[in-house]
Amino acid sequence: MKLEHIGIAVKDLAAANELYALLIGKKHYKIESVESEQVNTSFFKTGYSKIELLEATGPESAIAKHIEKRGEGIHHIAFEVKDIYAEMERLRKEGFRLLNDKPKRGADNKLVCFIHPKSANSVLVELCQRIVE
Ligand code: ZN
Repeated sequence: MKLEHIGIAVKDLAAANELYALLIGKKHYKIESVESEQVNTSFFKTGYSKIELLEATGPESAIAKHIEKRGEGIHHIAFEVKDIYAEMERLRKEGFRLLNDKPKRGADNKLVCFIHPKSANSVLVELCQRIVE
């Protein structure tokens, strides 16, 4: 598994984009909305990994709930896997609690699945696999 990105919950994506551009030294390369998750996302390349900023677009969004409970900050870490179905099966057998039965379509052209924080020392872990089209 490779650390693919770190997801950070922000209140104001435009403001956070400017801040992270200053921090990292280059602009985000993509902004994408994921309707099903009620989020706007932006991505920054940082060497072999990325930073994903996440802004809620509705009150039911997991990002809105995260910010309400904990404020802004690190929301999840994401590992890239070659075969998400096989990894999900392996982790399920190892006793990890997965938040979805099947991979779903996430931002940045990925299939994603989340592991419950209770299974991973209070860290929300995303598995992701690039969709080849
Ligand atoms: Zn992510």
